[in-house]
Amino acid sequence: MDCIFCEIIRGSIPSQKVFENEAVYAFRDIKPCAPVHILIVPKAHIASADEINADNADAVRDVFLAIPEIAKAAGLTNGYRIVTNIGEDGGQTVKHLHFHLLGGQKFAEKLV
Ligand code: 5GP
Ligand code: ZN
Repeated sequence: MDCIFCEIIRGSIPSQKVFENEAVYAFRDIKPCAPVHILIVPKAHIASADEINADNADAVRDVFLAIPEIAKAAGLTNGYRIVTNIGEDGGQTVKHLHFHLLGGQKFAEKLV
């Protein structure tokens, strides 16, 4: 399967890794949208949050358990945003579930 994030997890495409455990990999976004922009991905290939089910939901748990540690290591003591884009209308460009960790600034726009 042709998945750029699976290749990053495998190490066949280089990345700036900031965190890794048995289930989760996190690395700096190649085109940062904020002073801190980290992508947090489950190692299991899941296409998007729309593909979450009872059998693979542990991947989401594992990602969210890692988030506080990743945010702390990135120096985000005053808050941050977690964003996941889903499908065409959601603006998802890479079809491997990932969570954008954005921080290091106060976000002016409020989508929700
Ligand atoms: P999406 O648009 O699917 O929510 O987010 C995909 C993100 O992956 C984008 O922010 C994009 O900059 C990032 N990205 C795409 N290809 C690469 C890559 O090869 N390396 C890294 N580090 N980030 C990538
Ligand atoms: Zn993948």
